[in-house]
Amino acid sequence: MLNLKNILPAICLIAGLATSCQPKAEKHGTLANNNTTLSPDRAGYNKLSAEQERIIVHKGTERPYSGEYVKDMGEGVYICARCNEPLYTSKTKFDARCGWPSFDEEIAGKVKRLPDPDGMRTEIQCVKCGAHLGHVFLGEGFTAKNTRHCVNSISLKFIPAAEIRAKS
Ligand SMILES: [Zn+2]
Repeated sequence: MLNLKNILPAICLIAGLATSCQPKAEKHGTLANNNTTLSPDRAGYNKLSAEQERIIVHKGTERPYSGEYVKDMGEGVYICARCNEPLYTSKTKFDARCGWPSFDEEIAGKVKRLPDPDGMRTEIQCVKCGAHLGHVFLGEGFTAKNTRHCVNSISLKFIPAAEIRAKS
Protein backbone atom coordinates (compact mmCIF):
# COMPACT_ATOMS: atom_id res chain seq x y z
CA MET A 1 0.00 0.00 0.00
CA LEU A 2 1.44 3.33 -1.02
CA ASN A 3 1.62 5.79 1.82
CA LEU A 4 1.93 9.20 0.25
CA LYS A 5 2.86 10.84 3.53
CA ASN A 6 6.08 8.88 3.49
CA ILE A 7 6.94 10.34 0.11
CA LEU A 8 6.34 13.96 0.98
CA PRO A 9 9.65 14.53 2.79
CA ALA A 10 11.43 13.06 -0.18
CA ILE A 11 10.28 15.77 -2.56
CA CYS A 12 11.60 18.38 -0.18
CA LEU A 13 15.13 17.10 -0.55
CA ILE A 14 17.48 19.67 -1.92
CA ALA A 15 19.49 18.45 -4.84
CA GLY A 16 22.31 19.89 -6.88
CA LEU A 17 21.96 21.62 -10.20
CA ALA A 18 20.80 19.45 -13.04
CA THR A 19 22.74 20.11 -16.18
CA SER A 20 23.20 18.19 -19.35
CA CYS A 21 26.08 17.71 -21.70
CA GLN A 22 27.21 15.28 -24.27
CA PRO A 23 27.36 11.65 -23.13
CA LYS A 24 30.79 10.36 -22.30
CA ALA A 25 32.22 6.88 -22.17
CA GLU A 26 30.73 4.67 -19.52
CA LYS A 27 32.87 4.04 -16.49
CA HIS A 28 32.63 1.51 -13.76
CA GLY A 29 30.65 2.32 -10.64
CA THR A 30 31.36 1.62 -7.02
CA LEU A 31 30.30 -1.82 -5.89
CA ALA A 32 28.47 -1.71 -2.58
CA ASN A 33 27.71 -5.38 -2.02
CA ASN A 34 27.34 -8.68 -3.79
CA ASN A 35 23.70 -9.50 -3.17
CA THR A 36 22.13 -10.33 -6.52
CA THR A 37 19.11 -12.20 -5.20
CA LEU A 38 15.71 -10.85 -6.12
CA SER A 39 13.39 -10.91 -3.16
CA PRO A 40 10.61 -13.46 -3.54
CA ASP A 41 7.15 -12.26 -4.47
CA ARG A 42 5.23 -11.13 -1.46
CA ALA A 43 1.68 -10.10 -0.87
CA GLY A 44 1.37 -6.41 -1.45
CA TYR A 45 3.68 -6.15 -4.44
CA ASN A 46 2.14 -4.75 -7.58
CA LYS A 47 1.24 -7.16 -10.34
CA LEU A 48 3.73 -6.77 -13.17
CA SER A 49 3.04 -6.72 -16.89
CA ALA A 50 4.98 -9.12 -19.08
CA GLU A 51 7.32 -6.29 -20.12
CA GLN A 52 7.82 -5.21 -16.49
CA GLU A 53 8.58 -8.82 -15.60
CA ARG A 54 11.20 -8.97 -18.37
CA ILE A 55 12.99 -5.87 -17.10
CA ILE A 56 12.35 -5.83 -13.33
CA VAL A 57 12.72 -9.54 -12.62
CA HIS A 58 14.92 -10.75 -15.49
CA LYS A 59 17.09 -7.61 -15.62
CA GLY A 60 16.18 -6.57 -19.12
CA THR A 61 16.58 -3.12 -20.67
CA GLU A 62 13.87 -1.12 -22.38
CA ARG A 63 14.65 0.37 -25.77
CA PRO A 64 16.21 3.85 -25.57
CA TYR A 65 13.71 6.72 -25.84
CA SER A 66 10.82 4.25 -25.48
CA GLY A 67 10.11 4.85 -21.79
CA GLU A 68 7.48 7.30 -20.61
CA TYR A 69 9.78 9.08 -18.15
CA VAL A 70 12.60 10.03 -20.53
CA LYS A 71 10.97 13.46 -20.86
CA ASP A 72 10.72 16.03 -18.08
CA MET A 73 7.78 14.99 -15.89
CA GLY A 74 7.88 18.02 -13.59
CA GLU A 75 8.01 17.98 -9.81
CA GLY A 76 7.33 14.72 -8.04
CA VAL A 77 8.69 11.43 -6.78
CA TYR A 78 9.61 8.24 -8.64
CA ILE A 79 8.64 5.12 -6.73
CA CYS A 80 9.42 1.45 -7.37
CA ALA A 81 6.91 0.01 -9.84
CA ARG A 82 6.94 -3.26 -7.92
CA CYS A 83 6.82 -2.31 -4.21
CA ASN A 84 6.07 1.45 -4.25
CA GLU A 85 9.21 2.38 -2.32
CA PRO A 86 10.22 6.01 -3.10
CA LEU A 87 13.52 5.82 -5.01
CA TYR A 88 14.22 9.18 -6.71
CA THR A 89 12.92 12.74 -6.66
CA SER A 90 12.50 15.03 -9.64
CA LYS A 91 15.12 17.32 -8.08
CA THR A 92 17.83 14.84 -9.03
CA LYS A 93 16.55 14.05 -12.54
CA PHE A 94 18.49 15.45 -15.47
CA ASP A 95 18.64 15.08 -19.23
CA ALA A 96 21.63 12.93 -20.14
CA ARG A 97 20.39 12.54 -23.75
CA CYS A 98 20.94 8.82 -23.40
CA GLY A 99 17.37 7.64 -23.96
CA TRP A 100 16.59 6.65 -20.38
CA PRO A 101 15.55 8.65 -17.32
CA SER A 102 18.69 9.79 -15.52
CA PHE A 103 19.17 10.78 -11.90
CA ASP A 104 22.35 11.94 -10.18
CA GLU A 105 21.32 10.76 -6.71
CA GLU A 106 18.88 8.30 -5.17
CA ILE A 107 16.78 9.00 -2.10
CA ALA A 108 19.20 8.12 0.71
CA GLY A 109 19.40 4.40 1.33
CA LYS A 110 16.79 3.40 -1.25
CA VAL A 111 18.95 2.02 -4.07
CA LYS A 112 21.57 -0.70 -3.78
CA ARG A 113 24.50 -1.22 -6.14
CA LEU A 114 25.65 -4.62 -7.33
CA PRO A 115 28.24 -5.88 -9.79
CA ASP A 116 26.49 -6.54 -13.09
CA PRO A 117 26.85 -10.08 -14.47
CA ASP A 118 28.58 -8.50 -17.50
CA GLY A 119 31.59 -7.91 -15.24
CA MET A 120 31.80 -4.25 -16.23
CA ARG A 121 28.79 -2.25 -15.19
CA THR A 122 27.17 -1.68 -11.79
CA GLU A 123 23.56 -2.75 -11.51
CA ILE A 124 21.10 -0.79 -9.37
CA GLN A 125 18.16 -2.33 -7.56
CA CYS A 126 15.34 -1.21 -5.30
CA VAL A 127 16.67 -1.81 -1.79
CA LYS A 128 13.31 -3.02 -0.56
CA CYS A 129 12.23 -5.60 -3.15
CA GLY A 130 15.30 -6.14 -5.35
CA ALA A 131 13.62 -4.87 -8.52
CA HIS A 132 16.14 -4.27 -11.31
CA LEU A 133 16.24 -0.55 -12.04
CA GLY A 134 19.15 -0.14 -14.46
CA HIS A 135 22.80 0.79 -13.99
CA VAL A 136 24.82 3.54 -12.33
CA PHE A 137 27.80 5.24 -13.94
CA LEU A 138 30.35 7.46 -12.23
CA GLY A 139 32.79 10.07 -13.44
CA GLU A 140 30.96 11.23 -16.56
CA GLY A 141 30.70 14.85 -15.47
CA PHE A 142 27.04 15.39 -16.27
CA THR A 143 26.30 17.08 -12.95
CA ALA A 144 28.19 18.21 -9.88
CA LYS A 145 27.56 14.82 -8.29
CA ASN A 146 29.30 13.12 -11.22
CA THR A 147 26.86 10.20 -11.03
CA ARG A 148 24.26 8.94 -13.48
CA HIS A 149 21.60 6.46 -12.46
CA CYS A 150 20.39 5.18 -15.84
CA VAL A 151 16.95 3.80 -15.00
CA ASN A 152 14.31 1.98 -17.02
CA SER A 153 11.07 3.97 -16.98
CA ILE A 154 9.11 0.78 -16.62
CA SER A 155 10.82 0.05 -13.29
CA LEU A 156 9.41 3.30 -11.91
CA LYS A 157 6.09 4.97 -11.29
CA PHE A 158 5.95 8.76 -11.21
CA ILE A 159 3.82 10.44 -8.56
CA PRO A 160 3.31 14.17 -9.32
CA ALA A 161 3.95 16.49 -6.38
CA ALA A 162 0.45 17.96 -6.71
CA GLU A 163 -1.04 14.50 -6.18
CA ILE A 164 1.10 13.96 -3.09
CA ARG A 165 0.10 17.31 -1.61
CA ALA A 166 -3.57 16.67 -2.29
CA LYS A 167 -3.51 13.40 -0.38
CA SER A 168 -1.31 14.39 2.53
ZN1 LIG B 1 10.86 -2.14 -4.93
